[in-house]
Amino acid sequence: MATSVDDALANLTFADLEEGEENQHHERLHVDAEEVADEFYVMGRLVTDKSTRFAFFRDTMATVWRPTRGMNVRELQPHRYLFRFFLEKDVQRIIDDEPWSYEQSVLILKRITLREDPEDVSLNLAEFWVQLHVKTDERNFDYSIRQFFRIKIAVDVLKPLKKGIRLKKDSGEWFTVDFKYELLPTSCFVCGVLGHAEKFCSKDVSPGVKPYNAELLAGNRRGTPTAGL
Ligand SMILES: [Zn+2]
Repeated sequence: MATSVDDALANLTFADLEEGEENQHHERLHVDAEEVADEFYVMGRLVTDKSTRFAFFRDTMATVWRPTRGMNVRELQPHRYLFRFFLEKDVQRIIDDEPWSYEQSVLILKRITLREDPEDVSLNLAEFWVQLHVKTDERNFDYSIRQFFRIKIAVDVLKPLKKGIRLKKDSGEWFTVDFKYELLPTSCFVCGVLGHAEKFCSKDVSPGVKPYNAELLAGNRRGTPTAGL
């Protein structure tokens, strides 16, 4: 694309409008091929079962991200978008600042090249900041001074959220670490999957039985980078 633009403009000249016909001052128009060549692509998936107004989504993300050279977005399928940026730094900043959400739904992003078919890109892993809380009855745990650790994890949005993990000390004793998700978007306390509220859950469970609860939510937000919409 850059080459064709460059070729098309290479032989153009321009003249000052104020100059008379007889003493026109011609200069070659300089086109920096690199400036127009840079395009960077990101596929995005909004994990939600709600309908989304595309124009509003596009304008909101552009306002939040404020890419210095602008961006384009196309909706390829419902809730799947192809973003085009024009500056490497814009893309890197947006990817570094994950996770992003829009209207309480997680927005999964993945950088792609145009050699990939955007329709085939797998977009099931969402990044979250998770606080690791050690059960309080672990009196002799080495790190008991700290309340919790924070790590960024990739969550498979097709699977139920993990509530925690079990770890083994050097002594062979097992203990439990609870996960608390920071800025968790809409998720279901019946099946534990992101993207829908429990009243829209398709899982058949006895009334009142909810395997998940607000224990999954971190109380301390600590200013995690997110759109927070
Ligand atoms: Zn559910």
